[in-house]
Amino acid sequence: MSEEKDCDLECAICFSIYNNVFRAPKLLVCGHTFCLECLARMNMKSHVAEAIQCPICRRLTIVPKEGLPKLGNDSNVLSCLPETMQRIHSIHFNRGKGQLFVKKGPGSQKKKVKNKVFASSVSQSLDVGRPLEPDNRREQRQSCWCCVHKSYVTIITVILVTLSVLISSVWVFVVH
Ligand SMILES: [Zn+2]
Ligand SMILES: [Zn+2]
Repeated sequence: MSEEKDCDLECAICFSIYNNVFRAPKLLVCGHTFCLECLARMNMKSHVAEAIQCPICRRLTIVPKEGLPKLGNDSNVLSCLPETMQRIHSIHFNRGKGQLFVKKGPGSQKKKVKNKVFASSVSQSLDVGRPLEPDNRREQRQSCWCCVHKSYVTIITVILVTLSVLISSVWVFVVH
């Protein structure tokens, strides 16, 4: 009873148990902890890539230059995880692709033969949502529609001009 740890191993957003891969417990500056996957999903939906807003207290945490996975881990939560999980994998976050993936460690090549079971049981990358569509794409589509419209106008004008020339030449022929 003397040393009872207050272990909250569930992410408050997705209710998943933290782990040492994509659900690593990341500590925000406000003191709230969420899993890396949820923070990455939040970052994908945000227009501001450089900061994460805490969904509980709305305080902003600046994302490290090296990327979202470089946010500090919650050591309190980590100490509650099983010993084998206390070493967080090196994760990379690609915001352009909306993917989290495990960086291949230097030791991964050695285990190539025995790696089969490990590779199939642990997902090496994780989709965290689609990147926001840039606003200029819609404008582009509109201008394309404009181009089509303009070409139609040109074709109709050419046809009308040709017809009028034909009619006037026939008129001239008839009069003479
Ligand atoms: Zn979560
Ligand atoms: Zn907070």
